[in-house]
Amino acid sequence: MIRATNVTKFRGDTRVLDGASIEVQKGQVAALVGPSGGGKSTLLRCINGLEEFQEGEIAVGAFALRGGETPPRDTLLQLRRTVGMVFQQFNLFPHMTVLKNVMSGPVHALGRAKDEAEAAAKKWLDRVGLSDKHDARPGQLSGGQQQRVAIARALAVNPAAILFDEPTSALDPRMAAEVMRVIDDLAGDEQLQVAMVIVSHDIPAVKRIADVVHVLEKGRVVHSGPAAEAFAPGGPAAALE
Ligand code: ATP
Ligand code: MG
Repeated sequence: MIRATNVTKFRGDTRVLDGASIEVQKGQVAALVGPSGGGKSTLLRCINGLEEFQEGEIAVGAFALRGGETPPRDTLLQLRRTVGMVFQQFNLFPHMTVLKNVMSGPVHALGRAKDEAEAAAKKWLDRVGLSDKHDARPGQLSGGQQQRVAIARALAVNPAAILFDEPTSALDPRMAAEVMRVIDDLAGDEQLQVAMVIVSHDIPAVKRIADVVHVLEKGRVVHSGPAAEAFAPGGPAAALE
């Protein structure tokens, strides 16, 4: 579960988040859409503790962050272990094989036994359609394949939440579609009790996968509701389509 309540963040004198609130239950997919500079990436970075904020509160699973407080280092480390993040740039470890990339979180952050982590990593790589790439290095893969490794790596730590920040916007349309198919599959999986937040300009994909769409403008959530409502003609996100 993710609950951000009245989150306000300043960068210098600029209020980049202005009382933003969203709530995402386990098994739900929320989309964040809105104009460039509206605060979408900033809100995601606050949710996984990469950035501090001045007012409001964010709860992720058992963790709580409060505005104006610097959380203890331990809390931040644990929080980041429980929130998977998938970025536009894939951020894989270039010197490690695909399998080791996916195993690294469970082994190094969670202290899992190697054979257990390896079995789980293989399962997730299978899930994203890369069971034949265990021994490849990221540089030998296409962008779409690298992004699917990043998704498998995010899932491998059994996260409470996964945050996707424009996961397909660095990819050509064919690769973007193959990555979106994987996200679609995860979004539709009733067994997967993960709260997902996706920032994307791929509106058809957002309409397909999001249970709730939040429209973020100038740091404010100006609308929350089903995609059909947000993107309806004259609706709050109609102009983004
Ligand atoms: P986009 O759709 O372009 O990715 P966004 O909705 O993700 O936009 P943010 O990146 O969260 O928007 O930016 C929110 C505000 O914070 C903007 O005014 C932006 O200029 C500012 N900002 C973002 N990153 C930084 C930074 N590293 N230093 C200073 N200001 C920043
Ligand atoms: Mg952004």
